[in-house]
Formats: sequence, C-alpha cells, structure tokens
Amino acid sequence: IERTFSIIKPDATERNLTGKIIDKFESNGLRVVASKRVKLTRDQAEGFYAVHKERPFFGELVEMMLSGPVVLQVLEGENAIAKNREIMGATNPANAEAGTIRKEFAKSMGENSVHGSDAPETAAQEIKYFFKDEEIV
Ligand code: ATP
Ligand code: MG
Repeated sequence: IERTFSIIKPDATERNLTGKIIDKFESNGLRVVASKRVKLTRDQAEGFYAVHKERPFFGELVEMMLSGPVVLQVLEGENAIAKNREIMGATNPANAEAGTIRKEFAKSMGENSVHGSDAPETAAQEIKYFFKDEEIV
C-alpha cells in the first residue's frame, strides 16, 4: 500500500469540479485518507514548487495556485503514485488520454486541474509539507 499527494487546483475548485475529480480517484481504487480546502499563502506555493523556480512558467504557476482555493489530499492505494498519474493524464490536456481528469476537465497546460506527486521521495516530502501524521486516517 502506498500514499501519494494530490492538489485539486483553483481552476477546478472555481468550476465546482471537486466532487467529480474525487470520484475519479475513488472509482479507480484510491482512498482519500486526508483532505483540506485552503487558500495557499505565497510562501507555501513558492516553496511547494521550488523545484521549478528557474523555469519560465514559475511566476505564472505560482499566481495560478494563488488564484483561488485548492483541495489538498493524501490518496492511498496499491501503486498510488503511478495510479494517480494515470488517472490525472498528461500535463498538457491536449496530450491526455480519454477518461483522464486532465482530458475531461483541464483548460490548458497551466490550468490543468490537478497536481500529483511523481515519485516516492516527492510524495513523502509533499505530504509532510501540508499534513501532520495525525491528520491522515
Ligand atoms: P504536477 O507537478 O502539477 O502534477 P506535472 O508533473 O504533470 O504536474 P510538471 O512538469 O511538474 O508537470 O509541472 C508542474 C506544473 O507546472 C504543471 O502541472 C503545470 O500546471 C505547470 N506547467 C508546466 N509546464 C508549463 C508550461 N509550459 N506553461 C505553463 N504552466 C506549466
Ligand atoms: Mg510535477
């Protein structure tokens, strides 16, 4: 059993898609074991995406993450990290497979509705960035 970290991004909360996105996780065998809806602070958004600091889209990415509430979640299941990436689909919705969250809901590369951890180390680090152990049940 594995855990991964997920964010439902502002473009999706704005369009009231939270439930439809959670349904994709649950109906594909992932369990929501922690969840909170928050507005990120600038420090949190910049820290979370620090790995992309030098990329040309960093400013746009941070502004997008601050543009509305997000839903932070821990998802648990067999191969949760890879499974969540599959359920999300490609970063650019134009390249995402049918049935994926990004194919169905994402507006663009920037406003692509969800984040999901990409490896065990980043999953552990991202979960710890936002959740205490006792908030995960
Ligand atoms: P995430 O980390 O959010 O799960 P990802 O791993 O598929 O997405 P990354 O390459 O890690 O994609 O990029 C992080 C995020 O930065 C993307 O989800 C997207 O919102 C944004 N992003 C990436 N490339 C671009 C771009 N060329 N223009 C605008 N935004 C971008
Ligand atoms: Mg990524």
